[in-house]
Amino acid sequence: MAKINANYHKLNAGYIFPEIGRRIRLFQKENPGVTVYRLGIGNTTEPLTPAVIAGLRDGVDRLAGVKTYSGYGDEQGEEELRLKLAEFYSRRGVKIALDEFFVSDGAKPDAGNIQSIFSADNVVAFQDPAYPVYVDSNVIAGRSGLFNRDRGDYDGFIYMVCNEENGFIPEPPQQKVDLIYLCSPNNPTGAVATHQQLKKFVQYARKNRAVIIFDAAYSEFIADPELPRSIYEVEGAKECAIEINSFSKIAGFTGVRLGWSIVPKALVAEDSKPGDLHSLWFRRQTTLFNGASNIAQRGGIAVLSDQGLKESAELVGYYMENARLIREGLLAKGLTVFGGVNAPYLWLKTPGGLSSWDFFDKLLSEAQVVGTPGSGFGPSGEGYFRLSAFGHREDIGQAVQSIQTNLKVY
Ligand code: PLP
Repeated sequence: MAKINANYHKLNAGYIFPEIGRRIRLFQKENPGVTVYRLGIGNTTEPLTPAVIAGLRDGVDRLAGVKTYSGYGDEQGEEELRLKLAEFYSRRGVKIALDEFFVSDGAKPDAGNIQSIFSADNVVAFQDPAYPVYVDSNVIAGRSGLFNRDRGDYDGFIYMVCNEENGFIPEPPQQKVDLIYLCSPNNPTGAVATHQQLKKFVQYARKNRAVIIFDAAYSEFIADPELPRSIYEVEGAKECAIEINSFSKIAGFTGVRLGWSIVPKALVAEDSKPGDLHSLWFRRQTTLFNGASNIAQRGGIAVLSDQGLKESAELVGYYMENARLIREGLLAKGLTVFGGVNAPYLWLKTPGGLSSWDFFDKLLSEAQVVGTPGSGFGPSGEGYFRLSAFGHREDIGQAVQSIQTNLKVY
C-alpha cells in the first residue's frame, strides 16, 4: 500500500502567488478593462542581451554539427563555464576551485535540494521573513513540527526576526542550531548584510559546527563596493558555508534556467571531515540530476564574457533605475520604504498599521497596483509589503504615478 509524504500536509495551506492570482482575477472580473500594474513577482521582463543571444545561438549551432554535437556534459557543468565562474569570483578576491562549482538549472532547485545532504534531525534557522523555498523544503523533509495558523510559524524551526530595529539583518541565533539559511541581498526585504554581519554568522557557524546556506541570487544588484557579494569574502566561510547563485536575475535567465552552487571541500559538519559534504552533494547531483542544458550553459559562458558582463550590468542598472523610481515615488507619498538601493526589492511598511493582505486589497482597488503581502514570507513580514523592480520602465512609471495619484494614505 503506497503512502504519501504526509509532511506536505503540514505546509502552510496556500503558496502566496496563487492567492494573489485569484484576487487579481476577481478584481478584473468586477472591473473589466481596468489596467492592473504588476509589481508583484520577481520575474524578469527585459530581453536577453546581444552577447547572450549570440552565446545561446552558438549552443544551438553546436548541436547541429556532428563534430560539435554534445549530449550529457561534465557532471558538475561545462569546464569552460566553471572556469568563467572561477574568474568571476577571483575578480572579487575569492578563490574557488573548479570542482567546487556545481552548475545547475537554477538557485531555487538548489536551495530546495541542498537540505537533502543533511540529517533529518538538524535544527534549522531561517531569516524571517524569507524566500519560501528554504522553509518549505525543510518542512517537506520532515524537519518541522506543525504549522501554527495563529502565529504563522512552524514548530521546531528557529526564526531569526528581521525588523526595522536590526535593519532587517538578524543576529545569529541565541541557541545552537545546525543549518542556517541566509539570503543577501534579501528577498523580500531588500536588505544587504555587511561584512561584519556575515562575519558574526561565520564565527557562530564555526563555533557550533553549523552550516550556512547562503543564497546570493541578487549579488550583482549590490552597487556599494563595501558590501560583500559572496559569503566567501569573509575569512573562514569555506569551512562553514555553501553558496547558491543564479543567472536568473543578473542576465534574465528566469526562463532559460541556469544557476550554480559552491560546496567547498573545506566545508565540515559536526560529524564530517573536509570533503565529505562536497562528496555528498556530488553524489546527490549525479544521482538525481543530469546537468543543466548545454545550450543554457553556452549562454552562461557568454554572460560571463567581458561583453556579457558589461551588458548584464546594464540590465541590472535598468532594474535598479526602476527601483529608484519606485522608492522615490513612495517616499514622496510619505510611505516608509526599505531596500531598493542594493537590491531589486522594496519593502514597504503598510500605512496605518494595515495587515499585509488588507494593504494588498487597498493598493489593488485604489491604485490598481499588485504587490506581494509581506506575511507570505513569514510571520515577521506581517505589516509589510514587497514591491518588485522587475518590470518595463513605462509600466513602473504608470504604477508609481497611479500610487501617487490614487492611493489614499492618511
Ligand atoms: N533565490 C532567491 C532569493 C530568489 O528570490 C529567487 C527567485 O525569485 C531564486 C533564488 C530563484 O532562482 P532561479 O530562477 O535560479 O531558480
